[in-house]
Amino acid sequence: MKTKFDIAVFDGDGIGPEIMRPTVDILGALADARSYDFVFTDCPAGAAHFAQTGESLPQASMDAARRSDGILLSAMGLPSVRYDDGTEISPQIELRKALTLFAGVRPVRVFPGQRTPLNMRQGREVDFILIRESTEGLFYSQGNGEVTQDEARETLLITRDISEKLFKFAFKLAADRKAKGRGRGRVTCVDKANVFRAFAFFREIFDGIAQDFPDLAADHAYVDATALWMVQKPWDFDVLVTENMFGDILSDLGAGLMGGLGVAPSADIGLNNAVFQPCHGSAPDIAGQGSANPMAMILSAAMMLDWLGTKHDNVEMMEDGARLQRAVEDVISQGEGLTPDLGGTGTTQSIGAAIKAKLLS
Ligand code: NAD
Repeated sequence: MKTKFDIAVFDGDGIGPEIMRPTVDILGALADARSYDFVFTDCPAGAAHFAQTGESLPQASMDAARRSDGILLSAMGLPSVRYDDGTEISPQIELRKALTLFAGVRPVRVFPGQRTPLNMRQGREVDFILIRESTEGLFYSQGNGEVTQDEARETLLITRDISEKLFKFAFKLAADRKAKGRGRGRVTCVDKANVFRAFAFFREIFDGIAQDFPDLAADHAYVDATALWMVQKPWDFDVLVTENMFGDILSDLGAGLMGGLGVAPSADIGLNNAVFQPCHGSAPDIAGQGSANPMAMILSAAMMLDWLGTKHDNVEMMEDGARLQRAVEDVISQGEGLTPDLGGTGTTQSIGAAIKAKLLS
């Protein structure tokens, strides 16, 4: 008897359905040869769904996500579909808040043989994790900002409860990376404590949690300097942890270091649920052309396998997460048939097929 896992699948907008197709296909192929299996549930939501029905995140989709063992989400939002206040439809942010997915895990890794905008120094490996708090910070007042004729205000919220959970998660992740030989066991709190009291509070909570992890190093960096160092010496970082808006911006910088959004995966993790989705958006400029890079989505699915495997003590799933990541890295380092964002002429479908072939060979 196979162990079944319910996966809620948000196809989303723009290139979303195109990159989700090969991802679900690969997960199915992996499960075929194993003792676990997936039941995929399609969850309508997003900007196109809102334009058709007036609902951005139907209750049935929310319920399916809450019930599921894991959530796969491509990307949502279309610049042409907006609320009356001018902001965009963004159910992916509502999901993070509703399910308290406080830890936005954004791995930044330059794969062997991968082209990157930086001239990497010999022997310096870029492999760090940026953790973006994903439920509060400056995103707290989303939809409730005050705007008059003459001024606009948004409120940033930092709570002790979420910050403690976030920092514990960051230190545990650093310990895990150290145990696996992937990091030196260092967590850096990225803030703006030189100017804002809210960030002095954030930092003080970080220092308190650091005391519980005496085997790990803990330090601080200001967000502006961090942006500089991410370009100048990205190999220096291990685990970075920061506020929502800072993390939103720095994670795109991280994706740029990796060679583009098409290869940057992410996970939004809470105590019970987790969403796995690429860092990028719905890329409406290339939607429907079959040229979107599915790698970020597929790497996010690999993170889901690792997370599910760890949570359910399922060694096969953990192994398959690592195998799937390696298969993507192999296809990148071979450098043939890559999608246009990586300088090739491949298609979403051909790259999906190449990754699947690597896995099954
Ligand atoms: P975007 O990430 O969609 O696109 C930025 C650039 O990167 C575009 O040139 C696009 O073609 C390219 N790109 C992105 N993903 C790619 C992929 N897989 N393969 C190849 N090229 C890729 O950002 P944007 O244009 O600012 O936003 C478009 C829409 O997506 C907006 O409505 C925005 O609100 C939404 N969005 C959603 C999320 C999310 O769902 N998490 C995140 C960011 C933006």
